[in-house]
Amino acid sequence: MTLLKSWVASANSAETDFPLNNLPYGVFSTDDLDPRCGVAIGDMILDCRAAEEAGLLVVADEPLFDVPFWNEVMEDGSETWAKLRARLTAILAAGSEDEAAAKDMLVAREGVELHMPCLVAEYTDFYAGRQHAQNMGAILRGSPSLPANWLHIPIGYNGRASSVVVSGTDIHRPNGQTKAPDAEMPSFGPSKRLDIELEMGAIVGKSTDLGQPITVDEADDMIFGYVLLNDWSARDIQGWEYQPLGPFQGKAFGTTISPWIVTAAALEDFRAPTPERDFTLLPYLNGSKDGLYDIELEVLMQPEGAAKATSIAKTNYNRMYYSAAEQLCHHAIGGCAMTAGDLLGSGTISGADKSEYGSLMELSWAGKEPFTLDTGETRGFLEDGDTMTLRGAAKGDGYKIGFGDCVGKILPAVTWPAK
Ligand code: MN
Repeated sequence: MTLLKSWVASANSAETDFPLNNLPYGVFSTDDLDPRCGVAIGDMILDCRAAEEAGLLVVADEPLFDVPFWNEVMEDGSETWAKLRARLTAILAAGSEDEAAAKDMLVAREGVELHMPCLVAEYTDFYAGRQHAQNMGAILRGSPSLPANWLHIPIGYNGRASSVVVSGTDIHRPNGQTKAPDAEMPSFGPSKRLDIELEMGAIVGKSTDLGQPITVDEADDMIFGYVLLNDWSARDIQGWEYQPLGPFQGKAFGTTISPWIVTAAALEDFRAPTPERDFTLLPYLNGSKDGLYDIELEVLMQPEGAAKATSIAKTNYNRMYYSAAEQLCHHAIGGCAMTAGDLLGSGTISGADKSEYGSLMELSWAGKEPFTLDTGETRGFLEDGDTMTLRGAAKGDGYKIGFGDCVGKILPAVTWPAK
């Protein structure tokens, strides 16, 4: 595939995250416009509500864009997903007969406020990065050997949808209960080991019935799109609480997603296989398609007052051991109902080399080997005022399918009890 040309000039650049090939879905507002669904195209956004009201963008029997979230499009089903993408491509393509009508429905992306692109029904986080799991084993248990179940099950835990926020939302350092290894008793206060996790988020677009399992291929068809996901983690809170039931408060205070849902359709040309299996997976976990994607990822860190961010890690989504479709299949296999708007975190994405580690825990080896930023400052974990940015893009021939930045800044812990 090569760059598809649009009459929106800024979309015809090899540098833009949002060429005509991409068409990601977000929700935006301006001083004059209420929050509404929009499609990013180059430096602009097509106002879907205006386009629908004008009769330019009608692909279903009922209005899809009378609400400021994408769940109604998802729930309308994959036929609508395909029709919508085809119609948007036709409207925005170079030479389109709709150019004159659509021109007035474009809003400059710069300066708009971006909102959550969908209502997150529930949030589940997985642990499917092999290098990450091995690193965490080496750091926490003194051995990189994987848990006995890891090569057979996509391990996950049920997280909180209530604290999933859109890029640009500040995150307060969480308070919580911790216990230092040499302390006799636990104590309460702000986390001292605040971390990030570089992940992809898969957005489920179709619901399933309670009690009804699905195949991996059905799961693949159910995934509406992907976002970048930062699973903020308080390692000291997590370390004290996690046995025997897994993460709880250490993960519940914030999860940031990038503002644009990049559709599975836009990523289709970038499918990548899961790696060779150490053990053959049980048959229910077998699908017919390559379930990962070749998406280059980067983590940047910018301390308060620094002129620019430092790139601290680069890796690729194709490093994962389990795909989102395999995770979704496993999630539903016992009969758990899945809902349109469910968000699945991939698990931290780390490659083999240290420069590819997707968390500060790994990059600084639990704070024992602090790394240096371009400003000369060093870091083991996050300091107040640090801004973390995740970036990602699938690279085509002269174009890319980008996600837009996934940004969050750490604010000091809140004072509690309030004074
Ligand atoms: Mn995670």
